[in-house]
Amino acid sequence: TTSTPLSDLSPDQLAERLTTLRADYADLQGKGLKLDLTRGKPGSDQLDLSEGLLRLPTTHLDRSGTDVRNYGGLEGLAEMREIFADLLGVDVDRVIAGGNSSLSMMYQVVTWLLSHGGPDSPRPWSKEETVTFVCPVPGYDRHFTMLADLGIEMVTVPMHDDGPDVPSVRALVADDPSVKGMWLVPTYANPTGAVTSAEVAAELMAMPTAAPDFRILWDNAYAVHHLTEVETKSADALALASASGHPNRPVVFASTSKITFAGAGVAAMACSPENKEWFLKRLSFAAIGPDKVNQLRHVEFFGDADGVRAHMRRHRDLIAPKFAAVQDALRSRLDGLGVATWSEPVGGYFVDLNVLDGTAARVVRLAKEAGIALTPAGSAFPHGNDPDDRNIRLAPTFPSLADVEAAMAGVAVCVELAAVEKLSAT
Ligand code: PMP
Repeated sequence: TTSTPLSDLSPDQLAERLTTLRADYADLQGKGLKLDLTRGKPGSDQLDLSEGLLRLPTTHLDRSGTDVRNYGGLEGLAEMREIFADLLGVDVDRVIAGGNSSLSMMYQVVTWLLSHGGPDSPRPWSKEETVTFVCPVPGYDRHFTMLADLGIEMVTVPMHDDGPDVPSVRALVADDPSVKGMWLVPTYANPTGAVTSAEVAAELMAMPTAAPDFRILWDNAYAVHHLTEVETKSADALALASASGHPNRPVVFASTSKITFAGAGVAAMACSPENKEWFLKRLSFAAIGPDKVNQLRHVEFFGDADGVRAHMRRHRDLIAPKFAAVQDALRSRLDGLGVATWSEPVGGYFVDLNVLDGTAARVVRLAKEAGIALTPAGSAFPHGNDPDDRNIRLAPTFPSLADVEAAMAGVAVCVELAAVEKLSAT
């Protein structure tokens, strides 16, 4: 590999490089790969860590003697709520344990804000001319597609290493009452891996907003998903919000989807007492109770929050090598070329790759034609629109280590090839 920035190459050198890369790419295509780095799914070895769940629970009675097989218990089992409270660093009274999907709980919160408004809303959000959300980018595609489907407008702000750009957020929310909410993945953000600092969190919770019912949907999906021994604590959104007089602003979400079974875990929500009463009231018209059998199964499996933390270290042992392989592949081909930067996450499920402006869609297409499926370019932006066409989200957990190595070596070729094509054309 060369470490000369590609932009310093002469036209002849670029032409030579292009010839070499086309040969590399032809070799890559010749391998007949069929690899997939698209979605943040646990590998089957990770799912195997929780196989014991399939033989639980051993009883149908919870701690209080309630028969979990029957209806009821809308806020979830106390012992399940205690585990989430400990993991999220919040008071157990604030927690609701639900079904298998935190995304569904987020959807319920947003749709019920639209249909009914929150406890502090002047009227249902759907009665407003427009409803707008602040969206840190790059972000989680399903957050954005949910809002797009519900007709909610999105405005973007940059996501930094310590959280969203506070001055941009402040400017958007200060005077416009139609700006009703904001997404945030505070710990090991999807896809950048950023951890929102306590300082940034405090500012977001305290900032003045024109809307009296402004919500920060604090999606802490990766709160305990550390990739190193440093087990970073999330900022305490609920306490910061209460302290600054906006107790209803944050709604915290989490789940065991990437702890036990992605399709059969337990989701949770934590919020102010007023928000909780509001949510449980709406929920009472939609459900008679959650799957308490699954909650009890999880409680027996883990015992307590430390059981979850120990379990997460076993996940780490399985996936940290895959994240290391991504770094190795990118570094060994692209270091010093000046055509790509990427995150080095210490937690979560993704690596965020920024390629030469204007080449992300080309990279994804080149990869596809070599049998490597990547998330569509732009998917980490509202409406799939990355204005710089440079962002690609890599998800290395699902394929085997050998497949991650093969796929990433291929991706690196595609990144360099697309860059050299672009530089040669200009
Ligand atoms: N939030 C984020 C940030 C995610 O990355 C994911 C999974 N990809 C989810 C939520 C989905 O969570 P759940 O399985 O609990 O619905």
